[in-house]
Amino acid sequence: MIVQAASEIAKDFRPEYWREKDKNQVFPEDFWKALVDAGFVGAVIPEQYGGGGMGMFEMILAMETLTSESCGLAGTWFLCLTSVFGGLSLTKHGNEAQKEKYLPQIAKGMDFCLALTEPDAGTNTLNTQTVAAKRGDDYVVNGRKTFISGADRAKGMVLVTRTTPLEKAPKRTLGLSLFLVDLPNPAIEVTPIEKHGIHYSKTCDVFISDLRLSKENLLGEEDKGWYLILDTLNPERMSFSAASGGIGLLAIKTAVEYAKQRRVFGVPIGSYQALQFPMAEAKAKIEASRLLNYQAAWLYDKGQPCGAEANMAKVVAVEAGTQAVYHAMQTFGGYGYAVEYDVERWWREVNLIRLAPVTHQMALAFIGEHVLGLPKSY
Ligand SMILES: Cc1cc2nc3c(=O)[nH]c(=O)nc-3n(C[C@H](O)[C@H](O)[C@H](O)COP(=O)(O)OP(=O)(O)OC[C@H]3O[C@@H](n4cnc5c(N)ncnc54)[C@H](O)[C@@H]3O)c2cc1C
Repeated sequence: MIVQAASEIAKDFRPEYWREKDKNQVFPEDFWKALVDAGFVGAVIPEQYGGGGMGMFEMILAMETLTSESCGLAGTWFLCLTSVFGGLSLTKHGNEAQKEKYLPQIAKGMDFCLALTEPDAGTNTLNTQTVAAKRGDDYVVNGRKTFISGADRAKGMVLVTRTTPLEKAPKRTLGLSLFLVDLPNPAIEVTPIEKHGIHYSKTCDVFISDLRLSKENLLGEEDKGWYLILDTLNPERMSFSAASGGIGLLAIKTAVEYAKQRRVFGVPIGSYQALQFPMAEAKAKIEASRLLNYQAAWLYDKGQPCGAEANMAKVVAVEAGTQAVYHAMQTFGGYGYAVEYDVERWWREVNLIRLAPVTHQMALAFIGEHVLGLPKSY
């Protein structure tokens, strides 16, 4: 039923719709409304707060379908920002008052974002420099975040800060805290960054000066933010694995249709093994990555450790998705470079997934250390 419902939505948002939104850098309001109306935005929110009471497994099915049928990365992107960053983080770690305040609004389409990455910390989240300093019962936050997707529109933000300096923390992984912040806020300046693709959604620099927060803004326990954020980062990885495989399937489907028609030496170009085999190989790898990703989501929904599966699925999905779009573009020849054929847009989108939400190298480092038991490589 989820796949069917997502498929119905995808029929109304064909590649030409996304081509136009990407070109004109316009947010897809009607697509967002369709996701809200179909209940996808609130899917992972418990029913008592107006959501669908489903899990990451169902969310992955929706993301894959939307992405692979016609929407490209957009089919995953917006659900990840709001449903995973907002809905899932609050469902897992919010107190009753926070859940009542935010979850019903999120299910109705209140945009959320996650402010984790910093210019000086990069991949090393434990080196977070944004400080939430205690002032009596309150906190004053100062710092800078970068690459925060959707911060320009979001009405809520999960903000990652340091509440205990790294050198004073009893353990490196202690001392980070998460806060819920209402946006827009006069203490927060949001500036979009010009980027390579996904022009229908902005990714921003965020400057925070003397932002006053209270204990009510704290999401989960103080200083335990590192452990809490993993419950959001693993589903984020699963979402982007769904996106990578989904974009790959979309590109293959489109290239196969083209390859059946296009003749240059008297036969359809799809009969050449040079074009056929790489796409066949990518298809096989994408299907394998989907199963691994389902396993990660299933474990997550059962409350079991899923870091190994989430990172392994991401590694395979990214390689397979990138391979698929690369060879789809090759199949289109010169037309693959023309905006009209969409493959160049999917190429720009799929390449993000090697870099974010976790870089390919860091996902491999996780597998090396935590799955293979090798010494930490950094
Ligand atoms: C379009 C876009 C949207 C984004 N949206 C968000 C968002 O909404 N919220 C958010 O918080 N962040 C977001 N990000 C940030 C993204 O998660 C980071 O860019 C990513 O985690 C990498 O961090 P960095 O860019 O600082 O790279 P760096 O940490 O500087 O890494 C640079 C390179 O060095 C490699 N490297 C670093 N350390 C090691 C190591 N120990 N071993 C091997 N290789 C290593 C990396 O793999 C990478 O290739 C977004 C990024 C982009 C581009």
